Amino acid sequence: MRKCVFCGASSGFIGRICADCKKLLARVQELRGKVSYGQFLDGLEQTGVPRDKIPRFLAADPDGKGSIQDQVTAEMTSELMKVMGISGQQSTKEVKRIRDNLAKESE
Ligand SMILES: [Zn+2]
Repeated sequence: MRKCVFCGASSGFIGRICADCKKLLARVQELRGKVSYGQFLDGLEQTGVPRDKIPRFLAADPDGKGSIQDQVTAEMTSELMKVMGISGQQSTKEVKRIRDNLAKESE
């Protein structure tokens, strides 16, 4: 059996993503850029996927392009900066750096 690239659960014989994460991924595409982060998380919970799977899904980085969480946060931050009149694109890397710093400070 193969393992899901997002949550590590069994994904069946053919898929690289399990049924739950497929559902989450579809919802991410639907919601990204349209809602706040809180609404985004609510939307993911509404898929009916077990709650404990959602953080694992968000933190996974199967393609090495940054986790879903970092990608979505980067998009939301860029959007917010545009609204506030600050130019510049917030990169996934930058968000990760900020988050790592925050994590270090709260230790
Ligand atoms: Zn999965």
